[in-house]
Amino acid sequence: MRSTLTRRLALALVCLSLFSFAEEPPEDLMPVETAPPLAEPTQPPGQSMLDTDGILCLVNRDSKITKNYVPADLRMPEVATRKKGMEERILMREEAAQALEKMFQAAKREAKYTLYAASGYRSYGIQQILFNGKVEAVGSRDAAQKTVAPPGTSEHQLGLAMDVQAPSLLNLNRAFGDTEEGKWVAENAHRFGFIIRYKQEWTDITGYLYEPWHIRYVGVAHAQAIHALDVPMETYIAAVSQLPEYVLRGGTDLLLAGLARQLMADAPVLPADDLMTAQTEPEQQAALRAATEPYLPAGASYEQVLWAIYPTPKPTAGPRIDADEETSLFSSRQEQDVLSP
Ligand SMILES: [Zn+2]
Repeated sequence: MRSTLTRRLALALVCLSLFSFAEEPPEDLMPVETAPPLAEPTQPPGQSMLDTDGILCLVNRDSKITKNYVPADLRMPEVATRKKGMEERILMREEAAQALEKMFQAAKREAKYTLYAASGYRSYGIQQILFNGKVEAVGSRDAAQKTVAPPGTSEHQLGLAMDVQAPSLLNLNRAFGDTEEGKWVAENAHRFGFIIRYKQEWTDITGYLYEPWHIRYVGVAHAQAIHALDVPMETYIAAVSQLPEYVLRGGTDLLLAGLARQLMADAPVLPADDLMTAQTEPEQQAALRAATEPYLPAGASYEQVLWAIYPTPKPTAGPRIDADEETSLFSSRQEQDVLSP
């Protein structure tokens, strides 16, 4: 009896400490939890992050995917679905699957919200069936296009998009944005590398109606930049596609947002030559550091900002903020002391 009580008390303490930790998100610089490291670039070297195999690939009606494209590293993320048997529908590419798992776990841990994955990778053929069904239902191709992407124009085919549901609302509709879970997703998805792809204000640009349930993986740095800028992916990509590849792969969110803002201005300004032309790895690292300096918040170092975005195996040495630290601080010690028999 007594030990159960002690155990409960201890657990409550652990939960409390976790909760207070979560309650004060140590600014954007130090997210409570970040998405998995962008360990290895998912696309082969030599290819751009903007190519079909890259996490920044832009897909819409003007920018189609070929019929035969199937991502090579699809897997089922270990997350909940509304009912059994939906597993085949929620495949994602490895990097995105890891990020989704982290996000769903964080929703549970930080806010006690359950999220369901509803629809991930969709092949060209499946999209064709969905689209034809919609055309039949609404009577015209044009009307169907507002809500269902014609085959080849859905980013679900990239394996980088997921439709998310909440237990309180089992339909995919705009009311998801008003649920507690939907609000949490809108406020936190970028910490894990996802963006809300189709917002209400952007329908003219994206060509899609508001879809608060549809999230798209672009990696933490870009997701945070896009979130800070609050622009559609189309606008962001038009700007950052002018940057060298190494900046897209290694730039911090602050730098990417700053440069994008500069490039999106009415009178666009190209970044300094040093950044645009750096060739060797050391030159590029130095250029990234120098270009980020002006955007650093007071008191923050370049390393801090970099580690927050690329937590684990990024090149430079120095202190790391990683999951192990969290575990040792908040669970293993306290829990073990009290819980072990
Ligand atoms: Zn979707």
